[in-house]
Amino acid sequence: MQLNYIANASVPSSSGRTIAVLDPSDGQTFEQIQRSNASDIDSAVQAARQGLDSAWRKFSAAERGRLLMRLSSKITENAEELSQIEQRDCGKPTRQAKADALALARYFEFYGGACDKLHGETIPYLDGYSVLTWREPHGVTGHIIPWNYPMQIFGRSVGGALAAGNTCVVKPAEDACLSLIRVAQLAAEVGFPAGVINIVTGYGHEVGDALARHPGIDHISFTGSPSVGTLIQQAAALRHCPVTLELGGKSPQIVFADADLDAAVPAILNGIVQNAGQTCSAGSRLLVDQAIYESLLARLGAEFENLRVGPASLDLDLGPLIRQSQQQRVWDFLSDAHVAGIPMVAQGRVVDEAPQSGFYQAPTLLRDVPFDHRLAQEEVFGPVLCAMPFKDEDQAVALANATEFGLVAGVWTRDGARQFRMARRIRSGQIFINNYGAGGGVELPFGGVKSSGYGREKGFEALLGFTTLKTVAIRHG
Ligand code: NAD
Repeated sequence: MQLNYIANASVPSSSGRTIAVLDPSDGQTFEQIQRSNASDIDSAVQAARQGLDSAWRKFSAAERGRLLMRLSSKITENAEELSQIEQRDCGKPTRQAKADALALARYFEFYGGACDKLHGETIPYLDGYSVLTWREPHGVTGHIIPWNYPMQIFGRSVGGALAAGNTCVVKPAEDACLSLIRVAQLAAEVGFPAGVINIVTGYGHEVGDALARHPGIDHISFTGSPSVGTLIQQAAALRHCPVTLELGGKSPQIVFADADLDAAVPAILNGIVQNAGQTCSAGSRLLVDQAIYESLLARLGAEFENLRVGPASLDLDLGPLIRQSQQQRVWDFLSDAHVAGIPMVAQGRVVDEAPQSGFYQAPTLLRDVPFDHRLAQEEVFGPVLCAMPFKDEDQAVALANATEFGLVAGVWTRDGARQFRMARRIRSGQIFINNYGAGGGVELPFGGVKSSGYGREKGFEALLGFTTLKTVAIRHG
């Protein structure tokens, strides 16, 4: 049985209750986690405050950086173990699980190196005055993590917060806690003081809600669905607690007739197949210049038919979805497509070795999806790519911007001026030109506009969000 990790100790929830952990590859229970409650959150927040005041505040920025680097090395040494945990817990194919563990190490390396490079400024002011700014940590930060990339999202959120000098209370998703409990143990092994990283598991409406409402939390970083993002924001607003919201996406891949299709096709495929489409920045809408619409769909269709889905340990193109309700969600979208007469171009195949009790879904390419159909507007969060044609650049921009989201966009064209025009006109947090980085790029600030959220994580920019700026004005005559 897995316990919470508070103040560098494994502790049971005060509720005495647990939640079963299923392996998505076969749907069977293999572990239990704690079903924690508000009182466990309270203990974790107190531990984080104690850790901040008694130890973490006293570390110099360089010392913090060295410790983050040590954790990075420890994660790399234990990458195999972490990726095996993640594979079983989340159904990730071996290559994806390993990539996630190495990305986690890279976040701690990046933020370890950034700790002592976060400077304030001096500001020219009146005669006889000196004015300077300090970037100070918020204090105790709360982190609510989704199930799709637990290690990566922990790395970017907790890594940035620690680098800026905060201590952390982390609420992983109930479907994906195991790797993060292990990372917190590794952090203690390399010397993180008690209370700096605390993990409390449980349901969102119980512990997530308690974390968002807790008066001892000075900043909340939430990654998850737009609807829960609204609840977090409302809870935080009651006590004016700052929030970073990393929400969903319906990201377009926009392909012009002059594109290098040899580069575009594998990136378009990977952008929807990676993690079985359960990626906030999945390239789930394919907007194609009508001049190449038929030929590109024929080429992509052939690729889709070659895709194979199966148990995570077989390391195929796709593993299972995280749970049965997610599988049902994808089925509902596909059944709506059928009812609306949306044509299917091609589908991959679930292999015979996949147990019936696992949560599998064949990747599916749909065409001529009306731009206002829910398939083109809402996150499926599964391996479903929706194609539609456009006639010119203006229409491509209009379609790209025609959802409530604005997280990532990919543009494929050799025309340099058009590259810049598209990058300027699309409303989105990230634009990739002739490449597509679903989830990639530790160094690259990431986050959305509109219903994709606000605030930025990743890169150096995240450190600004995990600090508050203090202006000090000194009159010395
Ligand atoms: P979710 O919103 O259901 O859950 C996310 C987290 O919030 C979980 O830990 C959950 O337990 C918790 N939670 C649920 N209800 C809560 C409540 N009432 N109060 C507080 N916490 C609560 O999302 P999910 O299904 O786990 O993840 C998928 C969603 O996350 C998708 O919409 C996806 O696009 C988004 N996502 C966004 C990013 C990004 O960086 N923009 C990254 C990954 C996932």
